[in-house]
Amino acid sequence: MSVNEADRAAVAAAPLFHGVDVAAVPGLWERGRVHSDVPAGTLLLSPDSENRSVYLILDGEVDVHLGEPGPSPDRQLGPGQCLGELSLLDGQRPSASVIATTPLRLFVMDEEIVWSAVEASYGFARNLLYVLCGRTRSESAALGAAQRARQELERTVRTDALTGLRNRRWMAEAFPRQLERSVLDHQPVSLLMLDLDGFKSFNDTHGHLGGDVALRAAARVFEASLRPGDLLARYGGEEFVALLPGADLRAALEAAERLRVAVEQAVLVDDDGKPLPSITVSIGAAEAVPAEKLEAVIERADRALYRAKDGGRNRVHV
Ligand code: GH3
Ligand code: MG
Ligand code: MG
Repeated sequence: MSVNEADRAAVAAAPLFHGVDVAAVPGLWERGRVHSDVPAGTLLLSPDSENRSVYLILDGEVDVHLGEPGPSPDRQLGPGQCLGELSLLDGQRPSASVIATTPLRLFVMDEEIVWSAVEASYGFARNLLYVLCGRTRSESAALGAAQRARQELERTVRTDALTGLRNRRWMAEAFPRQLERSVLDHQPVSLLMLDLDGFKSFNDTHGHLGGDVALRAAARVFEASLRPGDLLARYGGEEFVALLPGADLRAALEAAERLRVAVEQAVLVDDDGKPLPSITVSIGAAEAVPAEKLEAVIERADRALYRAKDGGRNRVHV
């Protein structure tokens, strides 16, 4: 379709032609084409196919998807904006998928016109650079946002929603790393298994929500009573596990006793501000033998925990 006056005016007003004397660009109106009535849903650019044109949107809108086209686009472009310039310039396939979301009217410039415009007009070359800079910046911003979302998801996957502590999945990754590090550093390392006492009946008496309050309180007490380098996770249910780098069995017993007393003394208040009775914890401690597997240390600490339960609860055992 030949380029009518209104389309010529729209092209000349687009940012790509800002400050450019369009009459000085040879063959612009002869070799440039207008595509009208491009239907909504048309895939204009995709990483699956080569692109040799720059499309200037005269009318309508497109969605830009940086990865696979998903429910929400990474960017939307409308009248005056252009697309395809990046893949045209570097000769590679488009990095994004671009889909018409409304019927489009486009001004299409093939490779040769784009290059002759660059040669003929310093202003056109400068505008093209501006467009490219904007593209690069918004792509890296989108990638940054995607990476932050991924990191947040990874953190969530390793966090216990009720207490905010790390969960067992995290423990399964972090504890073996620390066990290895302690061997390399020739440092002792000990593990504590902590299990709240009579928690089933606490739940029965004060309700599951009351139980949740107690679990969160216990988590805060453990966090506050451990040292900064210690590792703590909710093992499951009303059981917690802590790894104490640098602690031999004696130091682990001291730490465990500190935790036990702190839990016993913690004042519990439910979400309505009503006081709850205090809780107690039984703790099993085990020092890791160098190069011992995490499962083996947990098993020994667990056996110690059972002895603490057997011995009457609210106590520490090795
Ligand atoms: P023991 O002194 O021998 O440890 O007895 P216990 O009652 O603490 O142990 P048991 O394993 O019989 O019961 C654990 C209870 O912990 C049962 C379960 O309902 C409760 N529980 C586990 N997870 C949660 C939770 O997320 N919230 C609440 N409120 N309760 C939980
Ligand atoms: Mg238990
Ligand atoms: Mg218990």
